[in-house]
Amino acid sequence: MADKNVFDYAPAPESRAVVDIRSSYGLFVGGEFVDPVGGRSFKTISPATEEVLAEVSEASEHDVDLAVKAARKAYTRVWSRMSGRERSKYLFRIARILQERSRELAVLESLDNGKPIKESRDVDVPLAAAHFFYYAGWADKLEHAGFGPDPQPLGVAGQVIPWNFPLLMLAWKIAPALACGNTVVLKPAETTPLTALLFAEICQQADLPPGVVNIVTGAGGTGRAIVAHEDVDKVAFTGSTEVGRLIARTVAGTDKKVTLELGGKAANIVFDDAPVDQAVEGIVNGIFFNQGHVCCAGSRLLVQESVADEVLERLKRRMATLRVGDPLDKNTDVGAINSAEQLAKIRQLSEVGESEGAERWSPACDLPSHGFWFPPTVFTGVSQAHRIAREEIFGPVLSVLTFRTPTEAVEKANNTPFGLSAGVWTDKGSRILWTAEKLRAGVVWANTFNKFDPTSPFGGYQESGYGREGGRHGLEGYIR
Ligand code: NAP
Ligand code: MG
Repeated sequence: MADKNVFDYAPAPESRAVVDIRSSYGLFVGGEFVDPVGGRSFKTISPATEEVLAEVSEASEHDVDLAVKAARKAYTRVWSRMSGRERSKYLFRIARILQERSRELAVLESLDNGKPIKESRDVDVPLAAAHFFYYAGWADKLEHAGFGPDPQPLGVAGQVIPWNFPLLMLAWKIAPALACGNTVVLKPAETTPLTALLFAEICQQADLPPGVVNIVTGAGGTGRAIVAHEDVDKVAFTGSTEVGRLIARTVAGTDKKVTLELGGKAANIVFDDAPVDQAVEGIVNGIFFNQGHVCCAGSRLLVQESVADEVLERLKRRMATLRVGDPLDKNTDVGAINSAEQLAKIRQLSEVGESEGAERWSPACDLPSHGFWFPPTVFTGVSQAHRIAREEIFGPVLSVLTFRTPTEAVEKANNTPFGLSAGVWTDKGSRILWTAEKLRAGVVWANTFNKFDPTSPFGGYQESGYGREGGRHGLEGYIR
């Protein structure tokens, strides 16, 4: 880019010295870090540099069994007997420690996941703390939550989470479970275990009774062992629709309660009366936030034909200003792709997009020589039949389709097996209401996108899963 010689940002890296990463980690079971029974381990790396960050234990079926036993013991002897008021004190304490140690958590999250520090610092960590504050407030008011006069916990919750928002997904799972009196066994994703292990230390610091929270690291096999364990009363999962289906099959015919948060292919609809600059910011936030590793990402832009050229021109100009690179740099907008596997998947689907006849465009950007990187990319000339319009790419890749009438916009938006989220950009309140009512999506954002709040329920229709997390609705999955 010619402009680069005229003006560029000086490096502004956050110090990684604020966090101590141990060379190896045990499993967090019964309030202590313990070695896995089989002694197996794996490495977690920084996707931005491929540097090994730590050696992490791989929990076997036997280890999962020990964790479930610890959780059961804590449930029966301590946690389910404690008053809601007492439980809330622990949750408030955890929330405050998350705030106190926010810098450490943000740096660790960006190192292990590859996301920009400004997102881990301003979104992931504050929202994780907010979730604990919010559910701490519910713990002593459950009889007023609309689930009867004396709501009871379920028991032991087995929770399996993905790599895109490691600490935040942990908070979404653990905070409501604990507030309702359940104990948990949680497995973070294989590529992003470190903030969950730091959270385990925070549980110790908060004097949480041993066994209330257990963290078992590992890969898909560890997740399977949690889901299949016969003494687990509730399974909560966030991840791919494919694994979600396997889990639904495993728990079918048991009396386990299940919530599944799966994939998405959200439509972001821009009408001709939308304020264009704001809409462009919303499109960028919708698909390039967190490298597009977002289940509710606005990955299908539906733009009204009469303004399509103008919107696309301004979008491309804006994309050329996105800074891709070091996740720890405070000026970085787009960080590293989380893993080599995910990068391969994004590359493959983008090639399919080209071979199916869509036109691909990325701004000129220098990508680092090590690590996993993909430039912000937009595909135009996309039709509904193209795979890049139907499948979740889970990367910084936007597919653009056009429409002429509001009815056509809604038809195209709903033409998907998913139904997690959607966005509407227009100046008219009546049109927002008209469109939102017709969209089959769990969340519809109007003149904004990717806004989250612990008080607001989140979840999907169809292949995006079932059950809601967040808000009062989020309690339901943890109450008998
Ligand atoms: P995933 O493969 O479904 O993994 C999610 C979690 O489940 C991880 O902790 C994973 O362990 C574990 N797991 C894998 N196989 C399992 C099994 N048979 N039983 C129980 N647990 C199992 O998803 P992913 O690898 O994170 O991402 C793949 C795709 O999932 C993405 O491309 C995207 O389409 C979708 N996704 C959706 C969301 C969302 O929020 N809705 C979030 C992330 C990903 P490992 O980490 O060891 O694989
Ligand atoms: Mg990692």
